[in-house]
Amino acid sequence: MVLGTGKVAVLHFACRSPTLKIRCMFVQTSRMYIKSAFALGLIVLIFFATPSVSAWGVWAHNRINRGAVLAQSGSLGAFLYNHVDYITEESSVPDARKHDFNDRAEGARHFLDVERFRLASMDSFPPTMKDAVAKYGADSLQKYGTLPWTINAMVRQLTEAFKNGNKSEILFLCADLGHYIGDAHMPLHTSVNHDGQLTGQQGIHGMWEAEIPEMFGDKFNLYSGNADYIVNVEHAVWGVIDRSHHMADTLLGIEAGLHKGKGDADLYVLDNEARKKHNRYGQAIHNPKYIENYYKHLDGMVDRQMRAAMRFTADIWYTAWVNAGRPDLSDLDPREVTNAQSGKMESEKKLYQSGKITGFKTANDF
Ligand SMILES: [Zn+2]
Repeated sequence: MVLGTGKVAVLHFACRSPTLKIRCMFVQTSRMYIKSAFALGLIVLIFFATPSVSAWGVWAHNRINRGAVLAQSGSLGAFLYNHVDYITEESSVPDARKHDFNDRAEGARHFLDVERFRLASMDSFPPTMKDAVAKYGADSLQKYGTLPWTINAMVRQLTEAFKNGNKSEILFLCADLGHYIGDAHMPLHTSVNHDGQLTGQQGIHGMWEAEIPEMFGDKFNLYSGNADYIVNVEHAVWGVIDRSHHMADTLLGIEAGLHKGKGDADLYVLDNEARKKHNRYGQAIHNPKYIENYYKHLDGMVDRQMRAAMRFTADIWYTAWVNAGRPDLSDLDPREVTNAQSGKMESEKKLYQSGKITGFKTANDF
């Protein structure tokens, strides 16, 4: 199961397209069906895929979504685990829509430039997307971002999908929500200085969210507890943005201190002619010693934010299901699929409780 972002995106587009008429195949999905859909995606990919850059990095997005599945129990947990590979792989698809398919509406969903709004507190933001458009205009929101409004709107859609037993929508919305909630926990997604470009720290975004998790993630303790009910979702989502935004200055300040007086050889991996090496997306690759030093100085911030993203995603899915009236989801999949998955789910949950999320491979960004 090593699929890059672009490949998954092709699958997703195929599945969502009413014209391609294969959505039904996907709706009936079990892990077996998903494999055939992936194969179709790979074929289309040959013609259309281009490199992409992923927020949080594929490594972390994959694990945030998978951990959120493992944090569930009962009928919801069993249903989501039947589709755990899909939910894992789809975690990076919103980034692919943005980069690979140049979907103009997509970009703003991934961030909120909090400083642009010049508001005294998070409570001052308009509560819904509609209110925000009325106040700031659609064009401004495209520039400054819509992340929290996007999450809140999708939670309402997910609640409806649970009420209606709409399997494809439930899976699509759960996977996408995990992505946007992940982004909301990446502090630079809430700041206008999103890649340190205003402070001479370009590349910090990728180092924080992809190079660090890829280098040290296997040592992270990713256990995030069990899903819990959120009484006021909208308020909780703005709380996430608020906490993230307060961390942006911290992570930038730490790196600015480490950066001082360092040359390219200290900061980056260089080739024989002392030129910076880049990953396949054109991002400069940092010197592993520098990444390690930065990671140490962050004092667990990346791990904590990953766990927080995982838990909040789990809580949001669970809350939408509870608010839908706790529907029994066992009829949405053949009983044999659920039975076949249950043993695997139990052993993967044990691993999760020990802090590990494994059993699949990720196409890393760096
Ligand atoms: Zn994103």
